[in-house]
Amino acid sequence: MSALPDHAADPLHAELKRWFGFDHFRPGQEAVVRDALAGRDLLAIMPTGGGKSLCFQLPALLRPGLMLVVSPLIALMQDQVRLLQEMGIAATFLNSSLSGQEAGARIAALQRGEYKLLYLAPERLLMPEFLDGLLPRLLGSVGIGALTIDEAHCVSEWGHDFRPEYRQLGSLRAHLPQVPVFAFTATATQRVRQDIVAQLQLHEPALHLSSFNRPNLYYAVRPKTSQTYAELLKQAREGGSGIIYCLSRKRVDELAARLAADGISVLAYHAGLNAETRRTHQERFIRDDVQVMIATVAFGMGINKPDVRWVLHYDLPRSIEGYYQEAGRAGRDGEPARCVLYFGLGDIHTAEYFIAQKIHPQTGEPLEQEQRVARQQLRQVLDYAESSECRRAVQLRYFGESFSGNCGACDNCTEPRVLEDWTLEAQQLLSCVARLAQRGERYGAAHVIDILRGSQGQKLIDRGHQQLSTYGIGKSRSQDQWRVLLRACLHQGLLDETTDGYPVLKLNNDSRAVLKGERRVQLAPPPERQRKEKRKTRS
Ligand code: ADP
Ligand code: ZN
Repeated sequence: MSALPDHAADPLHAELKRWFGFDHFRPGQEAVVRDALAGRDLLAIMPTGGGKSLCFQLPALLRPGLMLVVSPLIALMQDQVRLLQEMGIAATFLNSSLSGQEAGARIAALQRGEYKLLYLAPERLLMPEFLDGLLPRLLGSVGIGALTIDEAHCVSEWGHDFRPEYRQLGSLRAHLPQVPVFAFTATATQRVRQDIVAQLQLHEPALHLSSFNRPNLYYAVRPKTSQTYAELLKQAREGGSGIIYCLSRKRVDELAARLAADGISVLAYHAGLNAETRRTHQERFIRDDVQVMIATVAFGMGINKPDVRWVLHYDLPRSIEGYYQEAGRAGRDGEPARCVLYFGLGDIHTAEYFIAQKIHPQTGEPLEQEQRVARQQLRQVLDYAESSECRRAVQLRYFGESFSGNCGACDNCTEPRVLEDWTLEAQQLLSCVARLAQRGERYGAAHVIDILRGSQGQKLIDRGHQQLSTYGIGKSRSQDQWRVLLRACLHQGLLDETTDGYPVLKLNNDSRAVLKGERRVQLAPPPERQRKEKRKTRS
């Protein structure tokens, strides 16, 4: 007879409803909560917006003793405590923003068992006055039920947000031998995961890995053209809170000024602004005092604004992971949201320029390892931007997840691009690389394209490349078209790039299949060509 779902009778669901007002757990939450209740060490990796907080907050309420929660940002901590208090949950924080009197009152209340959750910054937790003072007193009075480490990827140098204070958290274990440790993060790479387990000395942790799919986010990549600004403006005018990410502070300021002049309520956020300004800008955005934030990647972690409706990238992100996290700030409330990456060929040069700037500050020598990693990440970002595959599938593959079929919420699935056959051009390109290889020579993309296009450049003449049979056979295609084709060949595994001091092209077995005509090469037509054709059909 009852219209209630079956699990309403389950005590855990009843508690979920009682404290948080939710009828259901989100995917992955229940299993984490149950392990936490059992008192196991655990590492839970959940995407932003997945609902991590509840996974430790609910167990904190249901377990005996006080739960300590380490969180890296004071603003984030205050935010969470305020939300909890509004729900009638006994939570508090201790940090440097409190007066001595206020801190004293909270400490007294903590010892009387008046709180279930205590939020702390890591540096506070590691101070002798806490470790040798309050902590033993709490252990001796109310007891500590668990230690939660939020944003646990901060312990790892391999993550995107390393914090040295986090590194020392492992030493806490000695002070809390019986207390389970719950680590949470939204960073999914294997490397970071291993680092968290090791650094925090997790003991046979239960590993919870949620899917990183965010079904409510629509992903698209748009060409960067003279129309791009108009598109940004249109998006802003359609309403909803939004973030526009740019690469440089200068670009942030310029774009913010331009949108403001067009009547949009915007603020800027980047590391060039002082801490106070950054804080007020962030708060005003969160409070909906201002609609749009134009920001560099400095704007990010811990921005707990559930109703961001769109995130646009005006410049290429540095990595797929970075893109996923930044775009993922949209739609944390589970409602539909839009994520658009604008991409122009010029962005590749800018990105390469920035990579080349990674040099040792004293010696001026290139930081080779860093440059290598950055190049690989750039390559993956380009794979994403230029792919005609489902955007979701490409992102999830990066996190080791597979996704197949039509996602129904990305540009490539909802408006598939017509693919064109570029096999002939691909054969010309590959045979140019083959001719060079026959002479025992290897070159990078730019030089090979110069040969195909019959460049008169000195470097080419000096090396006698005008004599190659492939010299000038690709004159009818623009340099950009060749670049797009070349990268498509790389993405599709039809050509390899290796390094010989600098990146050089190399054939592989699949290249030979193309040369022999056993394999066709298809690609989405490069943007400039599409535009030209449109003009032609109109005239
Ligand atoms: P994150 O994993 O990014 O820390 P939060 O814990 O901030 O995510 O949760 C994101 C949003 O999802 C919050 O607004 C939260 O109230 C909501 N939420 C969490 N769990 C549930 C649930 N089981 N049902 C409905 N909403 C939920
Ligand atoms: Zn898709």
